[in-house]
Amino acid sequence: QEDVFKKLVSHCKEYGFVFPSSEIYDGLGAVYDYGQMGVELKNNIKQYWWQSMVLLHENIVGIDSAIFMHPTIWKASGHVDAFNDPLIDNRDSKKRYRADVLIEDQLAKYDDKINKEVAKAAKRFGEAFDEAQFRSTNGRVLEHQAKRDALHERFSKALNDNNLDELRQIILDEEIVCPISGTKNWTEVRQFNLMFSTEMGSTADGAMKIYLRPETAQGIFVNYLNVQKTGRMKIPFGIAQIGKAFRNEIVARQFIFRMREFEQMEMQFFVKPGTELDWFKSWKATRLKWHKALGFGDDHYRYHDHDKLAHYANAATDIEFLMPFGFKEVEGIHSRTNFDLSQHEKFSGKNIKYFDPETNESYTPYVIETSIGVDRMFLSIMSASYCEETLDSGESRVVLKLPAALAPVKLAVMPLVKKDGLPEKAREIIDNLKFHFHCQYDEKDSIGKRYRRQDAIGTPYCVTVDHQTLEDNCVTLRNRDTMQQERVAISELNNIIADRVSI
Ligand code: ATP
Repeated sequence: QEDVFKKLVSHCKEYGFVFPSSEIYDGLGAVYDYGQMGVELKNNIKQYWWQSMVLLHENIVGIDSAIFMHPTIWKASGHVDAFNDPLIDNRDSKKRYRADVLIEDQLAKYDDKINKEVAKAAKRFGEAFDEAQFRSTNGRVLEHQAKRDALHERFSKALNDNNLDELRQIILDEEIVCPISGTKNWTEVRQFNLMFSTEMGSTADGAMKIYLRPETAQGIFVNYLNVQKTGRMKIPFGIAQIGKAFRNEIVARQFIFRMREFEQMEMQFFVKPGTELDWFKSWKATRLKWHKALGFGDDHYRYHDHDKLAHYANAATDIEFLMPFGFKEVEGIHSRTNFDLSQHEKFSGKNIKYFDPETNESYTPYVIETSIGVDRMFLSIMSASYCEETLDSGESRVVLKLPAALAPVKLAVMPLVKKDGLPEKAREIIDNLKFHFHCQYDEKDSIGKRYRRQDAIGTPYCVTVDHQTLEDNCVTLRNRDTMQQERVAISELNNIIADRVSI
């Protein structure tokens, strides 16, 4: 699986999906640029989300708030005081780690040990193997499980109590070593705030310390009443936003899974107090359905309900996706109570209550949030789409089986040869279709090579123009996944492709 991940990362670079930022200067940690293919896929993901939120729901509207906001917003939201990760250094390698991540990795090691025992036994016993019974009776499995459970309990308590000394003690007791130096020479654990800051205004004016937003949500909260009043929205209603967020992540690894500059698609849904848990349940189901509609298979998804809740939340779940490195969070769904709005009311001194014209009462709405990372979604789609196939001819091909609606290029048009009027005919076809779909013209190399290039960027359809086309105005239409070819009339192309690549 590690191997698949490495191949995926190099595929992303080779075909213009994702480049390391500032590459000619040796890169910048956990910052990436999207290339000519990546930007198209990313835009299509954003469009898929936006349409499902804003176009399909009468009571959800969008906004685009600024990245810079008044610094008191981050005081009110709790980010200045509490948006921290516990940091630990290894004295020998001088490397920094997140203490909680080191412990999570240790938990995963116990899981690995258990899974290895299970796999070994499954091989030994063959058909007769009863996994559930083996897990509940095998001595070695039970021993690993007991250690894992004890560690999990101690870890959860330390996190809950925000006990940094205890986090360090766990690392020492578990004899966790630094992956770089291999030593157990750890410093104390300290809190590290994840927000980036900068200064606004010249110093002579009295510069103000401001932050790059670590989430887009606060831009929605501070605008909710503007939108409600100007849009004449009635509760329940939602506000959606797509935009950049910035976090000075300590452990920046796993490619675009954890970045320091990334993009979020967030929707805050404002509801009447007391109805929030029903709405939470409903959004939880709606969001999973949205993910599953992409067709990667239901086994790629699972919920992770939180038992440890942030102090302002009364329910929270993650939608996790099976990445090449295991199930990982792609989206969070949180019932945030009225915490954010009440805090903004307190810190701004303004009345931002909602007035219900039907009951004549004023109240601070409760909020259900759905928050998804564009880049993580991108990574999940790329990893589920990446396939290496051996064809009947013995040749192999790399194909990105992207959902057609998300593919960067929908249609490639190729003249069989570079002469006899075929290029002109191919251009004519593109000129008619390019207003409707992203098309690509390709005349270099053999047809086989051209197909491979399109497979590698996930183009769902290729059209080949041959000599017969000049006579019958028909072309060969090739399907990326089945590689089946059909002969279709040029006049039908628009309808056929539109039908097959729509969401
Ligand atoms: P994690 O536990 O992985 O750090 P989180 O719980 O802090 O994530 P949220 O604050 O709930 O994440 O953010 C919502 C979504 O934003 C996440 O589900 C994820 O898709 C995305 N996201 C958060 N941090 C990053 C990051 N550093 N890089 C890329 N995407 C991110």
